[in-house]
Amino acid sequence: MPEVWTSLKLIHWTADFFEKKGIPNPRLDAELLLAHLLKCKRIDLYTAHEKKIPEKDLAKYKELIRRRAAREPLQYITGETEFWGLPIKVTPEVLIPRPETELLVEEALKVPGSKLILDIGTGSGCIAVALAKNLSDARIVATDISKEAIETARENAGLHGVADRIEFVLANIAPWRVFEAEGRRFDLIVSNPPYIPSDEFPNLQPEVRDFEPRKALDGGLDGLEVIRRILEEAPGFLRPGGLLLLEIGEGEADLLQNLKTETLLLQGFKKDYGGVERILILKKA
Ligand code: GLN
Repeated sequence: MPEVWTSLKLIHWTADFFEKKGIPNPRLDAELLLAHLLKCKRIDLYTAHEKKIPEKDLAKYKELIRRRAAREPLQYITGETEFWGLPIKVTPEVLIPRPETELLVEEALKVPGSKLILDIGTGSGCIAVALAKNLSDARIVATDISKEAIETARENAGLHGVADRIEFVLANIAPWRVFEAEGRRFDLIVSNPPYIPSDEFPNLQPEVRDFEPRKALDGGLDGLEVIRRILEEAPGFLRPGGLLLLEIGEGEADLLQNLKTETLLLQGFKKDYGGVERILILKKA
């Protein structure tokens, strides 16, 4: 490394290094890590591109680069991501929110009259928080099987000022017995469940395979194990005419097309930007 490191020089060097290491977006990641370190916006790196980076920051940056080069997801290093235009905190205990899941929010927001919503497997809480931010008179119950996820989701709800309208519950899928006792019926149920078939894990990119929580991703043998449970259990707690929106994996629409249930009527699928049928929409008869 040369003596004087300016932002620009550092970005060039790092982008080059990441490229050799096979990191997917080398330049972008170099910039985002430096912006994170300097606590500035990415764009600010350019207005100050001749700025000299102090020695102590260089040492810290080196550590960030090392982690990213080992394929740790950028979002776990910076501790946050953006979802539906909102900054969302993430930890390695939660799935990193994906752009596809914004489609689920988009569809959910089209449903009129949602006063009581259930979000199954909330993870970082990104769906619940986005819905609460956009539906000012909705109340949401958000569940997760992971205590750490619930903590992170609660933190995100607090950061966005919607904690008073989201009830977080530690549960495997949902506390159906409690709902039963309370006579709860939801207007809308949403979920981004684990749906990757177990045998696909060896082929996943290392960021996902080696760093993201397996229980948030692994949908069992055919990828549909959790989805099937939701389809069996959820309708009992959906009001007649209520909708169930599920994010699903590539190729799963075909398998789910024939999965008939008595109470749930298939409304259709919503494709993501890659043309994959990503959101399954069902209505309770
Ligand atoms: N969309 C994620 C991925 O492909 C999977 C999310 C999930 O299983 N719910 O990595």
